[in-house]
Amino acid sequence: MMAGTTDETQVIDRGSKDQPPTNPNKKKTKFDVIIIGAGPAGYTAGIYSSRARHDTLILSGILPGGQLVNTTDVENYPGFENGIMGPDLMINFRKQTERMGTTIIDDEVVNVDFKHKPFKVLTASEEYQANAVIICTGANPRKLGLVGEKTYAGKGVSYCATCDGPFFRNQELVVAGGGDSAIEEATFLTKFASTIHLVHRRDKLRASKIMQERAFADKKIKFYWNMTVEEIIGNGKVQKVILKDTKNEEKTTLDVGGIFVAIGHEPNTKLFTNQIELDTQGYVVVKENTKTNVEGVFAAGDVHDHRYRQAVTAAGMGCMAAIDVDKYLAEI
Ligand code: NAP
Repeated sequence: MMAGTTDETQVIDRGSKDQPPTNPNKKKTKFDVIIIGAGPAGYTAGIYSSRARHDTLILSGILPGGQLVNTTDVENYPGFENGIMGPDLMINFRKQTERMGTTIIDDEVVNVDFKHKPFKVLTASEEYQANAVIICTGANPRKLGLVGEKTYAGKGVSYCATCDGPFFRNQELVVAGGGDSAIEEATFLTKFASTIHLVHRRDKLRASKIMQERAFADKKIKFYWNMTVEEIIGNGKVQKVILKDTKNEEKTTLDVGGIFVAIGHEPNTKLFTNQIELDTQGYVVVKENTKTNVEGVFAAGDVHDHRYRQAVTAAGMGCMAAIDVDKYLAEI
């Protein structure tokens, strides 16, 4: 038979008076579990949920993979003796999740309705329904908004000292920010770097007093008050950071191997305003492990965790959320 011709033996489903025809092209929209987001938390939740035999959908967003797709070497994800590139790790996560039977759709969620059951999760073109939802939409580090920041992301510009600190042994580094994160990152980085230049836009730190005292006592940390990062310059990787004095506009050039931007994070939770409880900074509030205040809606990963923020902890929480969902679905 030629391609495109009709097979005469094929039975065409035209339906009947009582039974409407089934449309094989119609998209499946009802699932047991919908996971929103496809970083380490979302994929791990998918693996566990599918292995528990729940019909599971991941709506991954337009750029699946989370923060690790913007990372180069990952040395601290267990199981990879010689480390692994961030994007490769996320491809492995995805393939494993698909092999377990999870449906993954690379589409962006534009709205949700958690007020009625089954819950509704909407993309621009489709409405999906499920009895349980796991929110794994993550958080993004705030950016300085400089051209060089983008050019050298993963090549000297970092947003995570725990992840990237060991790559900067005996180098001089800039840390930008004045909150707990910046001080914590600067203090952690003194284990590796020769000097930390901590750049803050005001003359007072926002960080807690005890962390400030620790940083002031550390001879490796030099403070630059009332200064902003003006430019990040390099050649293949970061070589210089130019600072600007906010008072007299004077510029200072620092020869450094890298810059850690630690000016806060923004959880991706705009979608969930008025649907579930968020804290004052917009993170999802969870009570009792991964449960949100709406029964049947769970959260995992950086979208609620502003303390650890690691791929491995996010993956662990994804597993916890799927186990909590399994128990919840068994109970209902
Ligand atoms: P944060 O408290 O919001 O501090 C952000 C810092 O970055 C502030 O100093 C801010 O300056 C500065 N900043 C913001 N935007 C900037 C920009 N565009 N350019 C230059 N500087 C900018 O964020 P965080 O430090 O990530 O902390 C978030 C939360 O997590 C806090 O509640 C914190 O206590 C908590 N946390 C706790 C620990 C711990 O206890 N070990 C560790 C990390 C974080 P201004 O001060 O001028 O606003």
